Amino acid sequence: MATPLSILLVEDNPGDARLIQLGFVESGLDVALDHVDRIDKAVSLFAEKAFDVVILDLSLPDGKGFGTFSKIHTHAPGTPIVVLTGLDDESLAEDLAGAGAQDYLVKDNVSPRILRRVIRYAIERKRAEKELRLAAKIFEGTLESIIVTDENLRVQRINSAFSQITGYTQKEVLGWEFGRFHADTPDSAFFKAVQDILVESGQWQGEVINRRKNGEAFPAWMNISAILNEAGHAANYVAVFTEITELKLSQERVRHLSRHDALTGLPNRMLFGDRLEHSLAQAHRNNTSLAAVFMDLDRFKIINDTLGHSEGDELLNQVAQRLKSCSRGSDTLARLGGDEFALILEDFADEDAVAKVAEKILHELSQPLTVGEHEVFITASLGIAFHHASGAKDEEEKDPAAIAATSSTLLKNADVAMYRAKENGRGNYQFYSSDMDEEAMERLKLETSLRHALDREEFVLHYQPQVDSTTNAIQGVEALLRWQHPEMGLVPPARIIPILEETGMIVAVGEWVLQSACRQAKTWQDEGFPLMRMAVNISPRQFKHPDFIQHVTNALNETELDPSYLELELTESMVIENVDETARILEEFKERGVRIAIDDFGDGASSISYLKNFPISTLKISHSFVIDIATDRDDAAIASMLIDMARNMDLTSIAEGVETDEQLDCLRERQCKEVQGYIYSRPLASADFTKYLKKRLSN
Ligand code: C2E
Ligand code: MG
Ligand code: MG
Repeated sequence: MATPLSILLVEDNPGDARLIQLGFVESGLDVALDHVDRIDKAVSLFAEKAFDVVILDLSLPDGKGFGTFSKIHTHAPGTPIVVLTGLDDESLAEDLAGAGAQDYLVKDNVSPRILRRVIRYAIERKRAEKELRLAAKIFEGTLESIIVTDENLRVQRINSAFSQITGYTQKEVLGWEFGRFHADTPDSAFFKAVQDILVESGQWQGEVINRRKNGEAFPAWMNISAILNEAGHAANYVAVFTEITELKLSQERVRHLSRHDALTGLPNRMLFGDRLEHSLAQAHRNNTSLAAVFMDLDRFKIINDTLGHSEGDELLNQVAQRLKSCSRGSDTLARLGGDEFALILEDFADEDAVAKVAEKILHELSQPLTVGEHEVFITASLGIAFHHASGAKDEEEKDPAAIAATSSTLLKNADVAMYRAKENGRGNYQFYSSDMDEEAMERLKLETSLRHALDREEFVLHYQPQVDSTTNAIQGVEALLRWQHPEMGLVPPARIIPILEETGMIVAVGEWVLQSACRQAKTWQDEGFPLMRMAVNISPRQFKHPDFIQHVTNALNETELDPSYLELELTESMVIENVDETARILEEFKERGVRIAIDDFGDGASSISYLKNFPISTLKISHSFVIDIATDRDDAAIASMLIDMARNMDLTSIAEGVETDEQLDCLRERQCKEVQGYIYSRPLASADFTKYLKKRLSN
């Protein structure tokens, strides 16, 4: 149910008022009528309530004519006013209509029908006015820029949002062709196409690049609709647009994030791939060369596990900074993931120049890093693959698919070369060459057949004596692994240990070695040969295995070998990696009577301080100092020092790889306790070693 129309009648003449009241009653309009006889009374009523219509007599005790109207109008600005006039001042009423009066009633002519019409009409017009005002408010108040054009797309109106965004005023752009705001020229193909679509369908939306008054271009999302006239033709167009610079920026940020490494901010693998393809295409066009460098930090996993992951991240960040400092701004440096980095080098004179960059990187990285409270030493292995200008520009190379293939081959080759650098002892760089592929293939084949070697019982141990340098008695034997391959013959450990280590197979193979070596030692003891230590080489992965102590214990228990005849050969790098844990393990071995030797002593980190803290029995002087001991003063001095050190700490010194009498003499002179090498015997299969023992005993 609609509420009644509330009407205020301002009329001082009681007769006229009565007539109007009657008219309303007869009109059938649902009306709530208030009646006052003075302007001031009307004004105080406005303070209390709103009226749908005011019917106003112009001549009142406190006001006359136009003044009456304007007072009422100012106090009830939104309310329609119908003016009551006499026949004689109908012209005044018409003037007032211009000033905002809705209509007028001639006093002597008030019939219910006229009253109805006038009231309805007054209210209708007021509502329309309100709506227009609302539309205008929206037009001006909205944050979206609006352009209204005529049927020829010439600007008629713009709103203030448009002015704010573009810097143009309404006056400046009046009559402009709409396309002029577009960053392209107005007659650009793009705007022609938009126009065609508008004519065809009356509607277009999409992204445009507009230009501000100051010349700056900005992206906008624009929606254009035709406003049709009664005949169905476009009379106007309304274009509404929002600037999307921010949106574009955030899209750009998302794109950046997805193509960069969050930790270092460097390009990631994806972006690196794109850049490499781009560089290859360019190298092809310009007939120039290009190099891809693949870098992998050495032993990063161990450092990361030891330091903790946030320090590991910090370390990677510092490495990234150093790598950056080694590359030019134009080179693409990327983090491919984990501890892998890659670099694209362009514009170099020759391969030597690339080698220089690699050396610089290795040098920079070799400087100690400070991570938290720790001083960390890190090295990297680098692999480098070249793409050389071919001279001939064959069509195939220009094909994006071919370039993508070349790009991934190049990276793969750099990776293969990096592996070679790792094999070469890490901390160096290698140029890729095609024979590395064959090696990689061979390695893969080796790995596959190695997986069956244990089951097929293809592993054997060879034994090499460790001889007392003064008495010539055999004090110990080192067990050395061999792979008896059905086709390849006897494969040396250098070719298989890295694969076993990398794949983790070394743990199982190492258990087998321990068992076999202990069994052999026990057998020789049972056969009555003089007592000898059995030295067994242990690999890092094996040593780090949580069950390592158990593996050793099992071997001793099952073979019933007295633990004091077992010597485990560890390398320096293994024992200094995790000092506390290592000390705990070594103490446990000491308690059981198992001996510990440091293999290849002098080759590694040579952090001599650890020797004091660990229960070690034997130092094996590295082969590398023995080779030239008779000819090279430095090597001789180092060997002397190592031997003295062993003696001072009450350790057995064993020189490795002794081949000549001169070497033996030098070692004897320096009182090296034992020697091991071809001069006495090559490593021998079990049966041969038994023969060797017998022969020595019979001499
Ligand atoms: P290593 O423990 O330093 O072993 C000494 C190496 O020197 C042996 O090489 C031995 O054959 C060689 N050699 C002995 N006398 C001479 C000599 O007079 N001149 C020269 N030039 N070389 C001599 P091999 O048997 O090829 O073993 C190489 C390395 O493989 C070993 O170095 C050891 O680190 C590793 N390895 C061998 N067997 C095992 C094993 O069962 N487990 C593990 N984890 N590593 C093993
Ligand atoms: Mg050894
Ligand atoms: Mg050795």
